[in-house]
Amino acid sequence: MNVFILGDLEGTAGIVDFQLQTYSDAKYYEQAKQLATLEINSLIDGVLEGGASEVWFLDGHGPGGIDYELMHCEAKMVIGRPLAAPWGLDESFDAFFLYGHHSMANTERGVLCHSWSSRTIANCWLNGNLIGEIGFNAALAGSFGIPTVFISGDDTAVTEMQGYVPNIVAVETKVGLSQTSAISLTPLKSRQLHQEVGREAMKKVSTIQPFTIDPPYEFVTELLDADHIASKAKQPDVERVDTHKFKIFGDTLVEIAQRR
Ligand SMILES: [Zn+2]
Repeated sequence: MNVFILGDLEGTAGIVDFQLQTYSDAKYYEQAKQLATLEINSLIDGVLEGGASEVWFLDGHGPGGIDYELMHCEAKMVIGRPLAAPWGLDESFDAFFLYGHHSMANTERGVLCHSWSSRTIANCWLNGNLIGEIGFNAALAGSFGIPTVFISGDDTAVTEMQGYVPNIVAVETKVGLSQTSAISLTPLKSRQLHQEVGREAMKKVSTIQPFTIDPPYEFVTELLDADHIASKAKQPDVERVDTHKFKIFGDTLVEIAQRR
């Protein structure tokens, strides 16, 4: 079985701060990447024990969320920017995993919650419904017929994902108290759980349906800063909605992901 893991950094145990941990100029950025990488390695151990033959890991955190030196020797790393969807994902994969994720922007108690960019985006809607990265990417995997079988992240990210895939297998790394505080597992405990639950998720692959959203697609982005709308609206096939919002259209989620 081939497994594709889409990773982020905000959902890792022990990580609760943009300025101190997840931005590339953060004082503890290198430590944050180490915490994530060791957790990912435990997940990969579990996935391999569960029968995976090939494991790809896509580093989805903007400025990078892993320490290459520490990365599990059996994984293939999908890295670099810009990284256009579908990033090598295709029908040959059997299961999609979401590692270290956060809930969508403006989620109550959502640890480091945001939608794609904490610095520039206020909200996103797909076909009229608010959506964040986890829902969107699960639907993108679903468009290739691949089920999303695992998520790890804070409790609000897990709850958001259960709205799309009720029987998804999950590791709750922390319970959010606010956007920048949480009751977190220790890294050691979280690694243990990633391994155990990752192994368990492999057994459930055949029982979880791919999550899909029917085409055609209409994706609306609301920017935080009205100054940026003019340059966005000038691009071809982009419709300006109001002072802060623009809209794009597409027949596939890959197209939307590439142009949003
Ligand atoms: Zn991120």
